[in-house]
Amino acid sequence: MGRKIKAVVIKGNNVKEKDKSILLFSLEEGKIWATLKGVRGEKAKMKYAKEPFCFGDFILEEGKAGDIVTSVDVIETFHEITNDINKYFEGNALLEIVSQVDESAERYAIFMNLVKSLKILCFHNVPKYEVLVKFMLDLFSLLGVGIYSKKCTCCGIDLHDNIYINYNVGELVCSQCKTFQSEQIGKAEFSIIKILSEIGYEKLSTTKFSEEALFRLLKILVKNFSARFDRNLKMIGILS
Ligand SMILES: [Zn+2]
Repeated sequence: MGRKIKAVVIKGNNVKEKDKSILLFSLEEGKIWATLKGVRGEKAKMKYAKEPFCFGDFILEEGKAGDIVTSVDVIETFHEITNDINKYFEGNALLEIVSQVDESAERYAIFMNLVKSLKILCFHNVPKYEVLVKFMLDLFSLLGVGIYSKKCTCCGIDLHDNIYINYNVGELVCSQCKTFQSEQIGKAEFSIIKILSEIGYEKLSTTKFSEEALFRLLKILVKNFSARFDRNLKMIGILS
């Protein structure tokens, strides 16, 4: 008897002549590798299920060399993301984050945020990098290292100007409390942190942030990710 999981395809490697090994991020079991047999032909029945972003119900059965996908009920391929190079890079960055982080403590919420992010990216026009920045801010919050704060996390005064992020702890501090491991955060970036920490994904299309500020903030979040989780994100096409 197989087991059914709800999952998003993170990435895949070709194996043998026509098989594909895929990394799934599933609601039920977290990240798991499974094999799709004979899917690399044009007429293969499950060919959509081998592509990154594909979201569906997967039936897995235990084989000799690990799990085998025996059928897939595709919910959404998010295929349109691959038609736009900028969306494609941003979508890939979302998948890279999921592959690099230990999500087990908050798997359900992180899974739902990933699906919501892919939906917005795929079917709506929002400023470049906004979905990625929102997903990262939420990820930090869910994993207990949220960034947004109205007050300096060190001395408690209200934050208005001269705001810094202290990478030692991933928290916002004032100019009096900054350390050598701190970096200044501009007013525009602070405003993005505040607003994106407070609104839901469905409201992303109503914001009007500048692409430059979103990109500056994204770089700060990537640095903070590396400081918090000891993992470096490549974000191909965006950072490199
Ligand atoms: Zn302070």
